[in-house]
Amino acid sequence: MGRFFALARDMPSSINLSLGEPNFSVPKRALLAGWKAVTEGRTRYEPTNGSAELRRALAEKAFLDYGLKYDPETEVLITVGATEAISLAMLGLLNPRDEVLIPNPGFTAYEPCVTLAEGRAIGIPLLERNEFRPSRRGVMSLLTPRSRVMLLNFPNNPTGAVLSHEESVELAEIATERDMVVISDEVYEKVVYDGGRHECMGSLPGMRERTLVVGSFSKTYAMTGLRVGYIYGPKELIAPLWLLHQYFIACVDSVAQQIALAALTGPQRSVEKMMKEFKRRRDLVHERLNRIDGMRCTLPRGAFYAFPNIRSFKMSSDRFSEFLLKEAHVITVPGSMFGSLGEGYIRLSFTVPYVQLEEALDRIEKVVKRLRRFQVRAPLQPSLVGRTILGANPSLQGRKPQWI
Ligand code: PMP
Repeated sequence: MGRFFALARDMPSSINLSLGEPNFSVPKRALLAGWKAVTEGRTRYEPTNGSAELRRALAEKAFLDYGLKYDPETEVLITVGATEAISLAMLGLLNPRDEVLIPNPGFTAYEPCVTLAEGRAIGIPLLERNEFRPSRRGVMSLLTPRSRVMLLNFPNNPTGAVLSHEESVELAEIATERDMVVISDEVYEKVVYDGGRHECMGSLPGMRERTLVVGSFSKTYAMTGLRVGYIYGPKELIAPLWLLHQYFIACVDSVAQQIALAALTGPQRSVEKMMKEFKRRRDLVHERLNRIDGMRCTLPRGAFYAFPNIRSFKMSSDRFSEFLLKEAHVITVPGSMFGSLGEGYIRLSFTVPYVQLEEALDRIEKVVKRLRRFQVRAPLQPSLVGRTILGANPSLQGRKPQWI
């Protein structure tokens, strides 16, 4: 991805559809609360597990949204975004060689977090023919005596998949039968389309005691840079994570926590407005991509990503994204970045204004039409990931820093 951004820098007219951050403003009321916190001198350490008011507000949210009761003293941990929450969960729970089922394709941080914690990441295939939802059979076939954790992420990045109630229950049953811990990354909980309502994994029968629910303010309140996330879970699972968090981070930024508190407890109109706009964009992207000869795009049911199939162009996803960048000046993410089963797809974020999105789709349509006419067979190329050595820890070998 670094290479793409270097190329894009020289193209001021490029449209960036690669970022996982909403292009909306943080609610004004929340920003004012941050300013108030600064002027009132609330710039000192907060409790290591997070400000008491924010933990209480989050416990209330879990109850109101999902009927889940968590003790704000011991069962809610405020983290530096969901990113920290996921790494803590892996480092805190895994023993060497423990197996963790992760979605494939899936969010880019999962696999490295598992391997850094000396676990083994096993991909749960999310296949297009099943609208990128896992099947019970598929998951069962991956289980071994070392299967310890199931990491789920619905609504899903990069595919936009959402689970039905029955599918969630099936996964919950597998976790219960095999005595596995579930880490459920629910950062897109509010971004669900077509009248669907997000169901929290922790709220399914028997799941509260074995589930860590990961959430974030990044997407819901467009606060990606303020870095506030959280984990809910039973106190036995939260305790080791809290310790690690204390050693690594001490506590989350005190002002950012005040902003998060005001966003969570204030009117939710901004979230509703954002959702309406995402729905409009989702419909546009889905319709326009499917109109392009050779592309096929599954309807995203949640999140703000489209994940079209580009196999018919006989190019690797890496080459295809590069082609779109060079010819259309549109930045996308090669599907291979999200795991082996992402090859053959690209990810487009609809996180730019509607008119810009239309312009990007016009450009893509135009250059792809041309490509279709003059198509030359290009061999599949391995993705860029996996070539350089970054650090002493063998789990970091071959990885490159990248955008989220
Ligand atoms: N999980 C998923 C599935 C994501 O897509 C992202 C960000 N793109 C994160 C976690 C990280 O979110 P945060 O900003 O809260 O660290």
